[in-house]
This record gives sequence, C-alpha cells and structure tokens, in this order.
Amino acid sequence: MLAGFTGTPGKGAHTKMTETRTNTAVLTKRGAARAREGHPWIYRSDVAEAAASAGDVVRVTDRAGRFLGRAFYNPKSEITLRIAEREEREIDGAWFRRRIERAGACRESLKIDASAYRLLHAEADGVPGLVIDRYADYFVLQPGSAAVERRLDHVVAALEDLYAPTGILLRGDSASRKREGLTRKVEVLSGEVPDSVVVHEGPVRYRAGLRGGQKTGGFLDQRENHIAAAQYVGGAGRVLDVFSYAGGFALHAARAAESVEAVDSSGDALEIARQNAELNGLDNITFTRFNAFDLLRERSDAEARYDAVILDPPAFAKTKRDLPGATRAYKEINLRAMKLLAPGGVLITCSCSYHFSRELMEETLRSAAADVGCTMRVREWRGQALDHPEILTIPETRYLKCAVLERA
Ligand code: SAH
Repeated sequence: MLAGFTGTPGKGAHTKMTETRTNTAVLTKRGAARAREGHPWIYRSDVAEAAASAGDVVRVTDRAGRFLGRAFYNPKSEITLRIAEREEREIDGAWFRRRIERAGACRESLKIDASAYRLLHAEADGVPGLVIDRYADYFVLQPGSAAVERRLDHVVAALEDLYAPTGILLRGDSASRKREGLTRKVEVLSGEVPDSVVVHEGPVRYRAGLRGGQKTGGFLDQRENHIAAAQYVGGAGRVLDVFSYAGGFALHAARAAESVEAVDSSGDALEIARQNAELNGLDNITFTRFNAFDLLRERSDAEARYDAVILDPPAFAKTKRDLPGATRAYKEINLRAMKLLAPGGVLITCSCSYHFSRELMEETLRSAAADVGCTMRVREWRGQALDHPEILTIPETRYLKCAVLERA
C-alpha cells in the first residue's frame, strides 16, 4: 500500500533537528484534501510516499511539493500520519511546552471546581496521541502515538517547569497503543506517585486509582454531568445508578436524594465506591454487584419504581461494525430504565461511543419510549466536560452524549 516507501531503519537515532529536516511524506490527492479540510489523521492508503521510520516527525506535502504540515509518523498504524503542526515550525521541547502552556491556560479559564481534570486532550489540544490528566499534585500521561512516546522527556520537562508536580506517571496500558505498535507499560517518569490519590469534584471527594483504575483513574469527562445529576435528582426518593464504577454519579446523587443504589458488575469498582461513600460521610448508598442487563430486566418485570435512573455504560460500539448490536443494547437498557421511572422521574442516560452518534442515540431513545408507551420530556442534552474540548473539523473529538429526560 505504501507505494514508494523508502523506510530508513535506524533514523530514530538521529537528532530531532535532522529528523524534521529530512523526513518527508507525500500525500495522495485525497489525503491532501483531507489535510486541508483540517483533519489531522491521514490513513495509510492516503500516504503516497514516506521516507521516515516509526516515531519520526515528518514534513508533509502534496504531490506538487506544497507544504501541508508536520506530522507524527507511524507506518504500523492505520492512522499513519497525525498532523501536529500546520506551520513551518520545529517540533521540539519548546513546541511541547507551548502546547501544554496553551492547554493549561484554557483549563485556567474554565475555573474548574475540581482537583482532577484533563490538562491536555490530544488532538483537541494540538498534540496528537497524548493525554495529560491532572490529579492534584500528580500528572498521568497516556501516550497513544509512537512519536509522542519518543518525546516524553519534552513533556516531562515542560510539566516540571510549569507545575513542579510531586510525580508524573506514564499509563501506557490503553487498548489503542496496540494499534500503534506500542508495548504496555506503567512507570513513574518523575518524582513519586502513589497507587491512588484523593481528589475533589465539586463538593464530592473520591479516591482515584492512578496506576490501576479505569482510564487514568477517573471518568473526568463525566465531571460536569456528575455535578448536573445532583441538581436533577434533587429531592428525589430512590435513585438507581447503573454502571456505577467508583460511584461517579452515585456520590453526587446521594447528596441530593434520599437513597441511591449503585450497580456494577465489578466487585473491585464497588469496593472503591463504598470507600468513597465513607470518605464523604454518605450512608444512603447501597451497592449491588450484578449484571446491569439482568438487573434492569428483573426490576422492571417486578414493576419496581425509581425517581431517577442513571445509565452510564461502557462504550458498546467501539467500532462501526459493532453498531447493530450496540444499538440493541442501548435500546434495551434505556427501555427498561424508562419502565422503572415513576411519573416525573428522571432518566440520565449516557453513551461514550463515538460511532453511536447523537442522532442515532436520539432515534434509539425515541424508539424505546414508543415501545414503553411513555412520554419523555427532554430536559437537556449534554456532552463531555469542557476540559475535553471538541474540534469542529475532527468529529471524533465529540464522543460523549448525556441526555436528561423526564417521564411525563
Ligand atoms: N458511571 C461511572 C463510569 C462507568 S464506566 C462514572 O461516572 O464514574 C462503566 C462501568 O460499567 C464499569 O465500572 C464496568 O465495570 C461496568 N460494567 C460493564 N459492563 C457491565 C454490565 N454488563 N453490568 C454491570 N456493570 C457493567
């Protein structure tokens, strides 16, 4: 597929100056059009020629030699090029520092009422394949591209200089690393990092497992939805939080409602949720280890009623191919949840599957409501927290949907 590929093994040992001057990639007409439209991902089939090796920064041009940008190169990845810079600028330590500084200024402006947040959201903050999450005095890095992995020293230097953190952890255990040919590793890059740390999210405190927890320790993209949920369930009697994990929604809901039942299939997650409830002095949460599909079916068959149901499942559609099955699963849990609502009850329902679009989710919810025969009023459509920005020209940066519906 890589016609004209002139791979030069051993290039990686060159200095970065040499790299950016000599490594080049030429795009096909379609690839060049895509780059000009503002999408940073260039697929393998859109790369006409490349003279570089995995992890290099390459100068990208069209077939006529017109400059399109500088990109992170990885021939092992389906996304062979990730455009990181659209000007003729060197991608060096100062470049990484500027990007991190800019992302930090954006987070400052958000006045986030939490000690854990996403400092840098990969492509959406101009550094393809790098996530930086902050947990109080610690930073957790998730590199998802070979070029970033090779330049982590720049990232660490910038963070040390800008934030003087107590420790920086590399969480190299995400599924996407495999596709980039990166090996699994979790290691401390600077200072000291404990296994977990207590952070706050609005009025709630929770323990985030930095080394072993899901994602980098918490579902930071749900922060604003967690806080909004407390408002929607305010004064409610019984709340059912399904797919609870460490209690992201349950803890906030329990401060506002009479009682919350947190459901998850993972005993470990529920044990952390229980500790988090204790940390907040909340004694109105019960924890049920159960398969969500079975529990929702059993409860709705038994005609149980709740004032609020929260659904925050894992991504059912990781790829486009998963969509038919995923759609059925989303419909099933939402249909059951709607049945469980008392009149005036609130359904807070989420999907973090990019492929399951907002339109498709709306259609699925509509079809569930029709089957139940209930009227659902739309209170609000929400998305991911603002520290997980979206880029208009990169649809993949908009992935989390959260609908708040009220049963009339
Ligand atoms: N609501 C949480 C995040 C949920 S992550 C928050 O806001 O922080 C998804 C959770 O679903 C995980 O904890 C996982 O253990 C759980 N899960 C996945 N499949 C499940 C199933 N079939 N039944 C119950 N829980 C499930």
